[in-house]
Amino acid sequence: MGRLLVTGANGLVGSQFKGNIIGLNSKVCDLRDKTSTENIFKLYTDKNIQKEYVVDRVIHTAAKVGGVGANMNYKGEFFYDNIMINTNVIESCRKFGVEKLVVFLSTCVFPDNVEYPLTEEKIHLGPPHFSNDAYAYAKRMSEVQIRSYREQYGLNYTSVIPTNIYGPNDNFNIENGHVIPSLIHKCFLARENNTDLTIWGSGNPLREFIHSKDVANLSQWVLENYNESEPIMLSTSEEISIKDIVDVIVENMYFKGKVIFDKTKPDGQFRKPSDNSKIKNYLPNYEFIKFEDGIKETIDWFEKHYPNIR
Ligand code: GDP
Repeated sequence: MGRLLVTGANGLVGSQFKGNIIGLNSKVCDLRDKTSTENIFKLYTDKNIQKEYVVDRVIHTAAKVGGVGANMNYKGEFFYDNIMINTNVIESCRKFGVEKLVVFLSTCVFPDNVEYPLTEEKIHLGPPHFSNDAYAYAKRMSEVQIRSYREQYGLNYTSVIPTNIYGPNDNFNIENGHVIPSLIHKCFLARENNTDLTIWGSGNPLREFIHSKDVANLSQWVLENYNESEPIMLSTSEEISIKDIVDVIVENMYFKGKVIFDKTKPDGQFRKPSDNSKIKNYLPNYEFIKFEDGIKETIDWFEKHYPNIR
């Protein structure tokens, strides 16, 4: 067997893959560019190098990502960057003989108006939520691309759909980050400066969170064991409200000030509950990292690394 290449290797999930892997990040290669992408794949799949060093498997986590704010403000970039990255990576995998590929989708790909819970076969049943439709359509197309490549070329390529991911080494940017890292950062600043903590929206929306280590473990399992075209959801199927997340963060960060809900800011989708039966059927004994433990670890990581954070 050859080597595993991970795209987005500096990212929230990508940085969790350990061992003898090749990690690509945006400094090594601009995956939006076809020639750069082909050159790097050509290099690592060269048949003249010893067999165990030749890349034959790829986990593709690289993407332009962000929270509800970034998704609404930079739709053009979210569409262009993601459609280019995915198209180039999947095509390069085909062109340079990669045997197995796992591509990351997201629960944003699902239609806004759909019967819950979300299951793998529902991703194309209607338009996504307006707040992240550019990102969602670009991601949906990678599912179409994989399926088409399987049909035409017989390639064993597949995809995973993780729910909202959190963990150490996230992007803690307050304007563009996802809810958990943004709230940890905001709570830290409010505590240090004795100011109010302002939450976006009503606090009522519900989300399902999965720790980045669980996502890495499960997608590695998918790479080695799952051979169907249909995506597989990576999810705990446990919903938590934004308000409850705020309580957990406030408690663990010893914040004593006032919490304000700014209803002029977007709520995004109200909820997107998922059905994790498929992965559970394959791995009935898998134990997910408990949310409270994962949050504590993420807060510790943040406090230890601040201000050297993304
Ligand atoms: P989404 O699941 O794609 O919508 O991603 P997010 O991680 O951005 O979660 C958005 C939810 O968290 C929405 O309901 C927001 O109103 C709420 N939220 C509350 N405060 C914040 C914040 O500071 N940043 C972000 N991104 N979301 C926040």
